[in-house]
Amino acid sequence: MKMNETAVAGQEPAEQPVGGEFPKLLKIGVFPASVEAQFRSLFTLLDEDDLRNDPAQVASVAGIVTRSNYRIPAELIDRLPGLRIITTNGVGYDGIALDHARQKNIVVTNTPDVLNKAVAELAVGMLLALLRKLPEADGFVRAGAWEESPFPLGTSLAGKRVGIVGLGRIGKEIAQRLVPFEVDLSYFGRARQAVPWRHFDSLPAMARHVDVLVLSCPGGAATRHIVDATVLRELGPDGVIVNVARGSVVNESDLCHALANGIIQGAALDVFESEPLGPSPLRQLPNVILAPHIGSATHETRRQMAELAIRNLVSFFRTGRAVTPVA
Ligand code: NAP
Repeated sequence: MKMNETAVAGQEPAEQPVGGEFPKLLKIGVFPASVEAQFRSLFTLLDEDDLRNDPAQVASVAGIVTRSNYRIPAELIDRLPGLRIITTNGVGYDGIALDHARQKNIVVTNTPDVLNKAVAELAVGMLLALLRKLPEADGFVRAGAWEESPFPLGTSLAGKRVGIVGLGRIGKEIAQRLVPFEVDLSYFGRARQAVPWRHFDSLPAMARHVDVLVLSCPGGAATRHIVDATVLRELGPDGVIVNVARGSVVNESDLCHALANGIIQGAALDVFESEPLGPSPLRQLPNVILAPHIGSATHETRRQMAELAIRNLVSFFRTGRAVTPVA
């Protein structure tokens, strides 16, 4: 199969509406043009400018379609009297006022599983890029520096201890991809699982044990800043972090201090406390690899996420039941 051709195993294409249009949706966030076209093939999408220009439209909105890096606060939910469903194109829903939506009997849906592989690929790719200094190596060759001196040595992944924070759908895909690299795996989470890897119920204890900490847990209040100065000190001067979870999981100011002062060796970050990343000290640090929250950002995966989001909307508006509601 050529790149950009997508086979969606086990999924029927979204059905055509029967007997008239589906209700209107409010779009919150910027979507790739191809993804927006998928939604527009079945739904009328309004944006916040449409509602400002024609406030009467507010009453016609029955659903919100969004992405996981945008917020759906309680105030927005309250402004839409006909709102029945919030559909996010992503698995994380920490930006949605979930309890408030539930109180108002508004269904919230996400797109689990279809993005696991893409996020896991990015996590492994960023880890290797960090250890082998790939961005620097590229710049080195382009600048002609290779003709002057050899490139500094990198660090091997083989033989390292890797700890996964959040061994869920994505965490397990990361673990499976790391096994062939001959690493020693462990994981931190609230529950011990039936897997062959060591479980830690203390994050500082796992950080002390490992060389690499991979974050793949949800964001939100329960995991806010669980990676802090203590955990970073335990990880130590040879330790590195890969964060494909949420920026909120890491105390970013503690992380900057640790990176700038040799408390840890490096970090590969796809997510940040504030996105897009503004003028952060992270941008000046040489021992960091930065990505603009692209865990699921492949043509194939974004298309599958949109298909699942659309299946949720179609099923909900037809039957009252969503396909993958947030539990
Ligand atoms: P999942 O299947 O629900 O897995 C979450 C894992 O985190 C579970 O193993 C859970 O284990 C653990 N966990 C939950 N709460 C925890 C806590 N308070 N402390 C420690 N561990 C906790 O979710 P998933 O589908 O793998 O997605 C995980 C997250 O990845 C998402 O929520 C999202 O934030 C992030 N994500 C990022 C991108 C990106 O573009 N970078 C894309 C997709 C998803 P226990 O229940 O045993 O604690």
